[in-house]
Amino acid sequence: MLQKNDCITLEITDINAEAFGIGRYEGMAVFVPSSAVGDKVRVRILKVLSTYCFGKIEEILVPSPDRIAVDCPVYAQCGGCGLRHISYESECKLKNNWVYQNLSRIGGVNPQKREIIPSPRQLEYRNKAQYPVQLAGGKLQIGFYAKHSHRVVPCMDCRLQPSLFTDILKEIHRFLCQYHIPIYDEQTHRGLVRHIYLRYGEKSDKVMLCLVINGTQLPHAGQFVTIMRRTFPQVVSIVLNVNRGQTNVILGRDNILLFGEEAITDQICGLEVSISPLAFYQVNREAAEILYGVAKEFAQLTPNDVLVDLYCGTGTIGLSMAREAKELIGVEIIPAAIENAKQNAKRNGIENAHFFCDDAAGAVQTLAQQKTKADVVVVDPPRKGCSPQALDAICQMSPSRIVYVSCDSATLARDIKWLSEKGYTLTKVQTVDLFPRTGHVETVARLDCVVPPAQ
Ligand code: SAH
Repeated sequence: MLQKNDCITLEITDINAEAFGIGRYEGMAVFVPSSAVGDKVRVRILKVLSTYCFGKIEEILVPSPDRIAVDCPVYAQCGGCGLRHISYESECKLKNNWVYQNLSRIGGVNPQKREIIPSPRQLEYRNKAQYPVQLAGGKLQIGFYAKHSHRVVPCMDCRLQPSLFTDILKEIHRFLCQYHIPIYDEQTHRGLVRHIYLRYGEKSDKVMLCLVINGTQLPHAGQFVTIMRRTFPQVVSIVLNVNRGQTNVILGRDNILLFGEEAITDQICGLEVSISPLAFYQVNREAAEILYGVAKEFAQLTPNDVLVDLYCGTGTIGLSMAREAKELIGVEIIPAAIENAKQNAKRNGIENAHFFCDDAAGAVQTLAQQKTKADVVVVDPPRKGCSPQALDAICQMSPSRIVYVSCDSATLARDIKWLSEKGYTLTKVQTVDLFPRTGHVETVARLDCVVPPAQ
C-alpha cells in the first residue's frame, strides 16, 4: 500500500483533461502533473486516497518522445497552461481522444472519428486576459493564480497574450506603485484594485482596459487616463468595473466609463462586432472563425429555415449564419451582450434577426408555447452544458437538426445521451482547438431528428 512520501518508478500511460499524466502502481492510479505519455519517471507520492493518489516528478528517467523544452519560466507554478511540455501535435491528438472517449463513455455514442482542426496560432492567440493583483511581502504582484490557489504567480509577459498586454501591464504597475493605489486583500476584504482586465480587438487594433475595483472611485483617475492614452493610442476604452463582493467571481455587474467607448469592436467571420466588458467573446478569434465555419456547415441552412441561436452572447454564431436562413432568433442571459447582439445585427445590415434577453430554458419554453417552429437550433452553453429544462424545451420545438457547440465534452456527452433518448441521433462531430497549451478544446456536434414530429 502506497504512503505519503514514498518514491516509486512509474510509466505514464495516459493524460487526463486536467493535464495530469496517469500511471498505474499496484492497481492504483497515480496522477502526476507535467508528465507525458511514454515518460518513465521517479515520483514522490504527495497524497493517497482510497483508489488513487497524487505524486510529483522527482526525476525523469526516460523522457517521452512527446516532450519539448518548456518555454515559460512560470509554467510549473501557474494555473494557466497544462500542456506546454509536450509538442502541439501530441496535444492535439490527446484532446481529440478525450472528446471521443467522453462521447463513448458518458454519451454511449461512437461517431466516426475526424482529425481535430488545430488553432492557426499557438502563441499570442488570446485577445482577453484577467490578471489578479496582489501585495506579497509589500511588493505589488500582477500575474495569474497558481494552480488550485489564490496565490498570484507574478507574470506580466504570458506567451498566450499579445505582447502589447505586457507593455500595458508594466505601465499600470508603475502607476499603481507611484500613486500608492491601495491593492485589494482577499483575507481582510480591504483595499481597492482586484484585477486588471484587458481585451484586444485584433482586427480593429483597439484595446479595452478595465480595472476591477472594490469601490466606485479610482484615486488619481485623471492621471491614469492621461498616462494610458498618451502611452497607448490603441486604448480606446478605460473602464472601472465595480466588484465589492466577497467572491471568487472576477467581474461585478456595474461599469463606470473613465474614458472613451463603452465597447470595443472587432471583426469575426466578416462581421463587425461590438463587445461590452461583460459580454462573452471568443478568446481566440482566428480559431473561432473556423469553429463557426464548422457550425455553419453542420447547420446546412436553406432560405426557408428558422434558426434559433441559444446562449448567443453577442450574437456572433447566429449572425454569421443569418444570411442563409429565413429568420434568426437569438437568446442570451446577459443584458449587455444582447444589446451588443442587436447592434451587431444592425451594423452589419442583418434584418432577419431577433434577440431576446432571457434564460435559455425559459425563452425556448415561451417560443415552443408560441408554436415557433425551429428548423435548426444552435446551442453554445457554458461548461456546465444545457439544463434538462432547456433540452426538453428544444425538443418541444422539434428542430430537424441541432448543432451543439461545446467547450466541455463531458457535459456535451451527457446532453447527447439525453437527446438520444428523445429521438435525436448524433451524426457528425468535429473538434477544433481554440485553447492551445491548455487542457481545453471545443467540439461541434450535429444531431438529427430521427422521428419527424406528428403534424
Ligand atoms: N455563442 C456565443 C457565446 C457562447 S458562451 C459566442 O460564440 O460568442 C456562453 C454564453 O451563454 C455566454 O454569453 C453566457 O452569458 C450565456 N449563458 C449562460 N447561461 C445562460 C442561460 N441560462 N441562458 C442563456 N444564456 C446563458
